[in-house]
Amino acid sequence: MFSVSKRPTIYEIQDLYKTKKAIPSQVLQFFLNRSSSIDKSIKAFNYYTPKLAESKAAKLDEILQIYLEKYPQDSWFELLQKKYPLFGIPFSLKSIILVESEIFNAGSKILDNFKAPYSSTVFKNIDSAGAIMIGINHMDQFAMGSSGETSDYATSRNPFDTSRTAGGSSSGPIAAVASGQVVFSLGSETGGSVRQPAAFCDVVGLKPTYGLISRYGVIPMASSLDQVGPVSNNVEDNIIITRVLAGEDEKDQTTVDSQSLKDKLDKMLDEKKSARRLKKLHSTTNPLKIGIPKEFYIDGIDPIISKAITNLQSKLKDLGHTLVDVSLPLTKYAISVYYLTMPVEAAANLERIDGVRYAQQQDNYDSLYYEHRNKYLGEEVKRRIMLGTYVSSAGYYDAYYNKAQKVRELARQDFVKVFQEVDVLLTPTTPEFPFKLGEKSDDPLKMYLSDVFTCGINTVRIPGLSVPLGMFEVVDGEKDIVDIKSVETDIAEDGKTVVHATEIDSATSNVIKLPTGCQIIGSELGEDKIFKLAQDIEMITSSRS
Ligand code: GLN
Repeated sequence: MFSVSKRPTIYEIQDLYKTKKAIPSQVLQFFLNRSSSIDKSIKAFNYYTPKLAESKAAKLDEILQIYLEKYPQDSWFELLQKKYPLFGIPFSLKSIILVESEIFNAGSKILDNFKAPYSSTVFKNIDSAGAIMIGINHMDQFAMGSSGETSDYATSRNPFDTSRTAGGSSSGPIAAVASGQVVFSLGSETGGSVRQPAAFCDVVGLKPTYGLISRYGVIPMASSLDQVGPVSNNVEDNIIITRVLAGEDEKDQTTVDSQSLKDKLDKMLDEKKSARRLKKLHSTTNPLKIGIPKEFYIDGIDPIISKAITNLQSKLKDLGHTLVDVSLPLTKYAISVYYLTMPVEAAANLERIDGVRYAQQQDNYDSLYYEHRNKYLGEEVKRRIMLGTYVSSAGYYDAYYNKAQKVRELARQDFVKVFQEVDVLLTPTTPEFPFKLGEKSDDPLKMYLSDVFTCGINTVRIPGLSVPLGMFEVVDGEKDIVDIKSVETDIAEDGKTVVHATEIDSATSNVIKLPTGCQIIGSELGEDKIFKLAQDIEMITSSRS
């Protein structure tokens, strides 16, 4: 018999193996059972992959046995972990990160039942590190959305209040980790799709430097912005996964050499291990210069989130970090640059879904392109294709797309300049707490604003991480609406109508606890500094370190 906490970490699961309390196939069974009961209300999973998982777990059972027999008692587990850093850890994937022969629909009926012909590099890396995939998660259609609601299959729920969004577009991967159905997951980021839901669901989510992680075998949204993003329950796990995923891939020419970053991450993980051995709290030894960019601290931020970040800032000062006010003036154009760049690339990428390949129906030639796409692509996807086609068309290319690229480059230079002065930047991840399902689905512009602090980071290639700030009391329901108990009408002496309304306080509002996160932004390949600060924030908020 063994027990597993509500939201386990890699360390917790691997300790079960180390102390011989469980073997991988038992852990797998535990997670499959847990998921089948929890997911009825969370809806994180589109498909489970039990056959693949069971055969993987059986292989790991054998490997465990071999290490136990072959190596000395005091070192067998360390050796095993060295070769397989994710040994026996259950995980899931967003329905966009391909695994050969499994079904990936990217949340869209146009790819219903599409079986991947090959596996992504990230899956291969995670698989050889010993992790066990248990299934594939729901997501916004083609990763377009901020709430999971554009999925053709199901909208994943926020585990802290199932009437609210888990965020998007990596809604399923985030909800799966936050509800403890898997230990980690991989989502994808084009403009905030890992960080925004991570903040909404109390988990750690990374958008890595562009080129750190291979995109081979990942269904593209906007190729100059897309990156795979690890999702975990604590910072240490995020480092471990990033370390496994990082590296050049000859199948993705945009990947970059990251050896020096990988060495730094290894060092951090070793330090964490020895701090754990000595039962010491792990804190940053060298203080950081943290930039506070004033353009990210706008009036529209929920006052509870603002206050939480101000409190955090003073605690970071107490730990020895220095806060520096900085300015990134082009931040105000981030949403515009993103929503002019992304649709152009997305429209081009989606051209391949033409009814010939990946077809659902093939009646006649006319039906192929027009009818097929019209019938099977969702509203949001069509909106982006139209926007992308419009802003890249002959008469408008210079005025919109080209101009956006110029602003994008200027914004990148602004960040480069700021990082000559500071190590990292600290901002809110989202201006608001997770909103109610349906609250923004009819208003695309409102929905797009959910990414106001995240999408600019993708356009300038640099990394950003959302780390939990904790749970906060928030009024549930309409705050400003006051119920009217009774209305009486009188005719006054001057003949005018006077209305007397008796008000009662809104009886419908009650207080609930919801999570939020903050965002740490780093320079290109500056993930090590991001993780350092994130570990300190995790210690301050005393969550799952
Ligand atoms: N929510 C943003 C959008 O809809 C970001 C999407 C993403 O990062 N995949 O474009």
